Amino acid sequence: MIIIAQPSATEEQIEQIVARVQEFGLEAQITRDESRVIVGVIGPEQLFRGQSFAGMPGVEAVVPDVRPYKLASYEARGAASTVEICGVSIGGDSAVALICGPCSVESREQILSIARIVKDAGARLLRGGAFKPRTSPYSFQGLREEGLRFLAEARNETGLPVITEIMDARDLPVVERYADCLQIGARNMHNFSLLKEVGRSHLPVLLKRGFSATLDELIMSAEYVLSEGNPNVLLCERGIRTFESATRYTLDLSAVPILKMKTHLPVVVDPTHGVGLRAFVPQMSLAAIAAGADAIMLEVHNSPDAAKSDGEQALVPETLSKLFPRLRAVANAIGRDL
Ligand code: PEP
Ligand code: MN
Repeated sequence: MIIIAQPSATEEQIEQIVARVQEFGLEAQITRDESRVIVGVIGPEQLFRGQSFAGMPGVEAVVPDVRPYKLASYEARGAASTVEICGVSIGGDSAVALICGPCSVESREQILSIARIVKDAGARLLRGGAFKPRTSPYSFQGLREEGLRFLAEARNETGLPVITEIMDARDLPVVERYADCLQIGARNMHNFSLLKEVGRSHLPVLLKRGFSATLDELIMSAEYVLSEGNPNVLLCERGIRTFESATRYTLDLSAVPILKMKTHLPVVVDPTHGVGLRAFVPQMSLAAIAAGADAIMLEVHNSPDAAKSDGEQALVPETLSKLFPRLRAVANAIGRDL
């Protein structure tokens, strides 16, 4: 069960709600966002009756648990939420945001020049990995803190907020020093201790779907982050493993409307990893926007043949520039900006 406080509820009223929950021998978990406070009730629900809370001062609504996730469910807010990354809003009625950059940060010159290119092409955020989850331990693993420094320099020059992957909770302090949004990669979607750790961060979290994860499992992973007090979570569809071998993964675009029905969280689509072949990324980007994605994440490289990771799927700058007006046209067709 969740108890949604009125936007005007006082701290004293919240404390009274919490005290009442505890009187029943249950735990109260408080989540705050800019507009209101939500009290999640944890424990066996047979210990109370929902109507005990409904009439309390400061209570707007009492929502019984209809799903295993309390804080991520659409009912927890009753409206789509918006996540702000350094002034760029994603979700709700915000314009569709384009997140672009290389798979990996490879050098200062590389990330600075790609950042300038994607900014000119219409990107609102910059992506780039400094800690890379590679299938082989002998492949390029990322520039680590040096890569983060280059990303921050690119952000300072272009004004594009930076999204970068964190693979290990021990790296959180250093990543937080440079990044504006933490990415949890597909391979770490089930890493619950890492999810709890980023749930205590002040930075928003872009959570990628594991390539064998169901949508409910993705939402439960988001719940781990939310339940530690971080309300700023973006869900990202990036392709799942199926029997189809023509593409690297299978981009599950039905995830977009389903996630938006089940949760209030913004939904990002990464057609680059979903398809894995640059020739098909533009079509799937257009389709993702048509399906209702709140943001699109695209890998872009100015010299993809020399890229240290994922070169075969990176868009070249000219393709991105030509694609942008088409993406905008699709966004406009469904009543959104880009
Ligand atoms: C990436 O974004 O470069 C990446 C490694 O993504 P995923 O975790 O979806 O494979
Ligand atoms: Mn990649």
